[in-house]
Amino acid sequence: MHTHSLPELAAGLREKKFSSRELTQHYLNRIAALDGDINAYVTVTPERALAQAAAADALIAAGKAGPLTGIPLGQKDIFCTKGVRTACGSKMLDSFVSPYDATIVEKLDAEGMVMLGKLNMDEFAMGSSNETSYYGPVKNPWDKTRVPGGSSGGSVACVAAGLAPIATATDTGGSIRQPAALTNLTGIKPTYGRVSRYGMIAFASSLDQAGVVARSAEDAAYVMQAMSGFDPKDSTSVDRPVDDLVSGLGHSIKGLTIGLPKEYFADGMAPGVRALVEQAIETLKGLGVRFKDISLPNSPLSVPTYYVVAPAEASSNLARFDGVRYGHRAEGAKSLGELYERSRGEGFGAEVQRRIMIGTYVLSHGYYDAYYLQAQKVRRLIYDDFKRAFADGIDLVLSPTATDVAFKFGDKSDDPVAMYLNDIYTIAANLAGIPAMSLPCGFVDGLPTGFQLMGNFFSEARMLNVAHQFQQATDFHKQWPTEFAS
Ligand code: GLN
Repeated sequence: MHTHSLPELAAGLREKKFSSRELTQHYLNRIAALDGDINAYVTVTPERALAQAAAADALIAAGKAGPLTGIPLGQKDIFCTKGVRTACGSKMLDSFVSPYDATIVEKLDAEGMVMLGKLNMDEFAMGSSNETSYYGPVKNPWDKTRVPGGSSGGSVACVAAGLAPIATATDTGGSIRQPAALTNLTGIKPTYGRVSRYGMIAFASSLDQAGVVARSAEDAAYVMQAMSGFDPKDSTSVDRPVDDLVSGLGHSIKGLTIGLPKEYFADGMAPGVRALVEQAIETLKGLGVRFKDISLPNSPLSVPTYYVVAPAEASSNLARFDGVRYGHRAEGAKSLGELYERSRGEGFGAEVQRRIMIGTYVLSHGYYDAYYLQAQKVRRLIYDDFKRAFADGIDLVLSPTATDVAFKFGDKSDDPVAMYLNDIYTIAANLAGIPAMSLPCGFVDGLPTGFQLMGNFFSEARMLNVAHQFQQATDFHKQWPTEFAS
């Protein structure tokens, strides 16, 4: 059952080949048998899941099912879930049980989806390997000596290993796309403002977006459709109708123009990855896509710009964790100052503390103009590069997603800069606010890699359609890590 696509699962439920309870139990059994080793889930919620499944079965029996009714999913543990611990990969929130649901949790519940549990992640979504999680690293199902990518490491590992058919994820600088590339999945980060951030624990508010990781663009389209839309509870959410992502999948892509930015194809990419991305370009040419060389001259500045903007926002967002209202509280502090210091010192891990210090520094008097203001100006230039390309008739931009296949545990964890450079191809889309996705394009020595599509604002439907057409012509996305296929 776990190798079925979402439309196949929906058909199976509708035709009573299996019930949602049976489907849910199948996944719960797999989690019990296989996740001990992978560590994708930090919390499994069998009772909640089986109750949701029973409700879904009743809807199906009454002929009131939608395309997602009764289908299980995993939720990244960054989304608040009422009555279920929401720890965000941090000791700080280890005992935090949210009193309310994030908007996307509410929306997916309302579609009749069944939440299997909460997924492991880098602490406060800061990381590219899932090694900063308080709950320990997640193993890559393709090679358990390697990282699954991050910060959505639990999300990708659970889908890649068949421990959920689909999962939610978030992307501040690449956390949906880089892990998707490293585990042979399709991951999409929509336009900033397309999906509500209400109830999604904030890392860098002007960059954070929720999306999904899936086994195909088609599966992703179904859940993105349900998650997207205006939310009055999020002032940055955009009041604009959602395109029909699912029926948008059938279009021909002949005559579309895709830009190849020379800065993204410079040195730095592993030769095996380059060859596969070039092969993907040839496949798209065969489908009638035209390619044009373009330049996004400021894109090499995106990593340094991000590492000013994101920590600045993080230092402000994380100021709320003071040991007073919720989260970890140090024992026996003798003054308020000591309570703050010790609660934060004990509750936050090393990477989070590093980001808070960088953020506080770049925002401090005397450095604000030199760093923060400067970074905001460069951010604008990066945005202008994309704007110019799209105004010049480029429909989408194509690039690699990650410089290489999954690396081994510990390879980069002692070198923050090497870790930060992981996101060299993904960060610009967050700084510009545009949608971007990653999809599988082959294997280097048995390890998967992917390529990235970036689009103009609100072009999710077009991007997903191009990905879908590519997936109709290729079968990379259908490959499973052997141990988890059966
Ligand atoms: N790897 C980047 C970071 O550590 C991006 C993380 C993300 O997208 N949440 O900040």
